[in-house]
Amino acid sequence: MPPPGKKANAVDAEVREKIHLEILKRTGAYRTSDHFLLPSGHHAPEYIDKVLVTTEPSFTEGLGAVIAKHFAAWPVDVVLSTGLGALILAHCVARAHPSRPILAYATKGVTGPRRLVTLPDEFHKVIDQGTKVLIVEDLITTGETLRLLIRLVERRGGQVTGIGCLWQRNSLRVDLGKPVFSLVSRDFPTYDPGDCPLCRQGLPLNREFARAEPAEEEARGGAKPVRGRPLPRA
Ligand SMILES: [Zn+2]
Repeated sequence: MPPPGKKANAVDAEVREKIHLEILKRTGAYRTSDHFLLPSGHHAPEYIDKVLVTTEPSFTEGLGAVIAKHFAAWPVDVVLSTGLGALILAHCVARAHPSRPILAYATKGVTGPRRLVTLPDEFHKVIDQGTKVLIVEDLITTGETLRLLIRLVERRGGQVTGIGCLWQRNSLRVDLGKPVFSLVSRDFPTYDPGDCPLCRQGLPLNREFARAEPAEEEARGGAKPVRGRPLPRA
């Protein structure tokens, strides 16, 4: 959506991103200037905790309103989400969107090595032929969940208007074939413990986030593949 004055917009976007980062810092979800041990065993100077991003209702409402405003020109029948934190944000987006969309959610599951998302039967009638759907996610990492949600909508004959999220990792600007609006687009470095500049500086290691499940770690935006070790799928 390119409104007039592209250069001014690029500056605006940068300023806005800084504001959003500050908001996420105040929730305690975004932490910087430290030396974190990630669940993968890597070290990093920054960390974004998926669990904490939607814990301050007034902040979540504000951020949801920004996403809703971005998509305000498009008619939206349903805001669709999955996952607890994302659903809280999705509620705030739906509440602020001028189309007054319905809020629906899919449930996440795993069968063997495959992830899947399922639409509860009760929602079958709300996502149907021609339904315009805005998908809301908290953190975009691999985009795998989003791909599943898009497929779910399109199989039912619906149309995905776009995707709104709080945080997208830059290096993983996956092409989902839909407009993605992210409040923050940011990556931060992660280091192998054997080759960590923070360790070399003698900074004490902060272990408070080290215990999350390995599969969750990448979803929290921490890990990168190290020496051929594949990333867990998020
Ligand atoms: Zn280190």
